[in-house]
Amino acid sequence: MFHDPVDVIPSVGDKTKEQLELLDITKVGDLLFHFPFRYDFFELKPINEIQHDETATIQGQVVSEPNVSYFGRKKSRLTCTLQVGVVAIKAVFFNQAFLKDRIKKGETITVTGKWDMHRLQITVQQLQPKSFNEDQTIQPIYHSKGNLTTKQIKKLVSYALKSSLEEVEEMLPEKYLIEYKLPSRRQAIKELHQPSSKTALKHAKRRFIFEELFIFQLKMQWIKSHNRAKSKGSSKVYDKQLVEQFIRSLGFTLTNSQNRVLEEILNDLKQPYRMNRLLQGDVGSGKTIVAAVALYATYLSGQQGALMVPTEILAEQHEESLKELFGDLLNVELLTGSVKGKKRRERLESINNGDVDIVVGTHALIQDDTLFKDLGLVIVDEQHRFGVAQRKTLRDKGLHPDVLFMTATPIPRTLSITTFGDMDVSVIDELPKGRQPIETYWVKENMMDRVRQFMVSEVNNGHQAYVICPLIEESDQLDIQNAVDVYEELQEELPNHINVGLMHGRLNAHEKDEVMRSFAENETQVLVSTTVVEVGVNVPNATLMVIYDAERFGLAQLHQLRGRVGRGYHQSYCILLADPKGDTGKERMRVMTETTDGFTLSEHDLQIRGPGDFFGKKQSGLPEFKVADLVEDYRALEVARRDAVDVLKHNLLENDPEYKQLKVLIESDPKIQERIFD
Ligand code: ADP
Ligand code: MG
Repeated sequence: MFHDPVDVIPSVGDKTKEQLELLDITKVGDLLFHFPFRYDFFELKPINEIQHDETATIQGQVVSEPNVSYFGRKKSRLTCTLQVGVVAIKAVFFNQAFLKDRIKKGETITVTGKWDMHRLQITVQQLQPKSFNEDQTIQPIYHSKGNLTTKQIKKLVSYALKSSLEEVEEMLPEKYLIEYKLPSRRQAIKELHQPSSKTALKHAKRRFIFEELFIFQLKMQWIKSHNRAKSKGSSKVYDKQLVEQFIRSLGFTLTNSQNRVLEEILNDLKQPYRMNRLLQGDVGSGKTIVAAVALYATYLSGQQGALMVPTEILAEQHEESLKELFGDLLNVELLTGSVKGKKRRERLESINNGDVDIVVGTHALIQDDTLFKDLGLVIVDEQHRFGVAQRKTLRDKGLHPDVLFMTATPIPRTLSITTFGDMDVSVIDELPKGRQPIETYWVKENMMDRVRQFMVSEVNNGHQAYVICPLIEESDQLDIQNAVDVYEELQEELPNHINVGLMHGRLNAHEKDEVMRSFAENETQVLVSTTVVEVGVNVPNATLMVIYDAERFGLAQLHQLRGRVGRGYHQSYCILLADPKGDTGKERMRVMTETTDGFTLSEHDLQIRGPGDFFGKKQSGLPEFKVADLVEDYRALEVARRDAVDVLKHNLLENDPEYKQLKVLIESDPKIQERIFD
């Protein structure tokens, strides 16, 4: 019956059928996988162990006739005396007079309610059934829609268990069940719906947590190995000594982390498969240098490289720093929306004929009319602003370059192996030596006077400051007004020799450039801005970051903003202006002042905001699990991942009949198609 429509169940009519559909339940078998979202536990406790005001379950003998009194129009009070061991207590039921007939003197009843220790009285919320048995007192609670009750769902599920459980097939090879002591799929389903004990319930959950995470990780690993096997990359051949010479010319030695990730990346370039790698590293950890070395190796192998960034300002900054870095070694050019007309045509031509070795630009770079002679490597900076769509564009244009995504948002490992499970991940987890940690302070907004004084003294010492006003909704006029107000106030309050600039999303690209240029050249000393400066811009002379309404930002974002300072050799400061109302807000401000480590902060962000909010709703790309929780079940996640890697490594999906179910499941998943390269 598993595959039969739900209305084969006698009690299911059109109405119920509709409501079940809202829960994605159309077949009888679907009921089996509509798991309870929580459970109520009723445990009998000795009276002297129950706290005052605690909700508890008590069993006792009725020793007085139940008595009902009515008051008001609809109100009633039912009372009786219960003998519990040697103590007589009073049970009070409000507005449940109808229960009177179910309570008989001499019988034993079980009630759940709030305990009043002083009056020896329980205010009953629930009269338990006669058959109350402590071992069967875990009550599943189901999500429902419409006016379907938990009780109705329970009945339907119970029908499905009787009629269809036998048709459920095991998914997991036996070795996992044995190794992790997991119940079978059928057993676990039964226990989740009708738990026989707390322990059995725990194991049933464990089983599905593993199953969900394992299958998900298998899919990721499957995509990864499929892409490796099928992708037509290029094996780059370059002179290793020239690369080393370039690294020696940098004027500093690479950190151990930089060396490690470079090795991983350069190794990918040499391989015949296409690189699909994510490079994570905190702001200032030196990702750009790593990118430059990879681009240089690509150039040496005779191919072109592209560096894509989210904004035009950033593109120009990167173009400049790459030009400086490479000198006469190779030819770097810019391609953004502001390169227009004849110049644009010429540039496109020289990209097309191979005169340009490295192109820096916004995503316009891979769109429409850009044709490369031989594009070997694309590096995408701040990858969370790009997505599957850009990868698809590349694919549609018949381009098969190696791709390196870079992000300065440290992503907690649980999320990184889930969201980016099909990619290789490299992490730079140290900063170059000699960096001074940014001192961070949290103050109330009424301290702005003192903050301004500090700003003046920093400027008088030759430095510069950012002042950030939140921009939550990009289109919100009010937020921009907010920045304008702060700008005007600072112009008024700061001494005349300090010039204040204003930057926000409504400025056009040219205006933004001008504002940024004048800040970069220290013509303006204080830059008031909405969060548009968040990404990557480099002004090493800036030593002070002031953030208004800091409680409105996530920790990851605050950390990004803070990373705009501390880029030079001077001590830098970050001041958070915030009056958070709740405890979590205060906790977040405190964490910011205590650590400058991006990974620590991102773990906190994950704990506080949960996985769904971490990346922002729109682009989360996180899978939905029924039982597993990415934060709570991180250990199981690691185990599942390790096992999945193992399965692919030994080709078990193909070779071992025990994995047949899993193989079918994975290969028939439509979502997988989106992630496959060709
Ligand atoms: P990211 O892109 O990760 O934010 P950058 O690559 O822009 O960081 O590096 C920040 C600054 O640190 C740059 O001025 C860069 O020249 C410098 N830098 C990078 N690596 C090192 C290193 N190993 N030692 C010293 N300075 C470094
Ligand atoms: Mg950078």
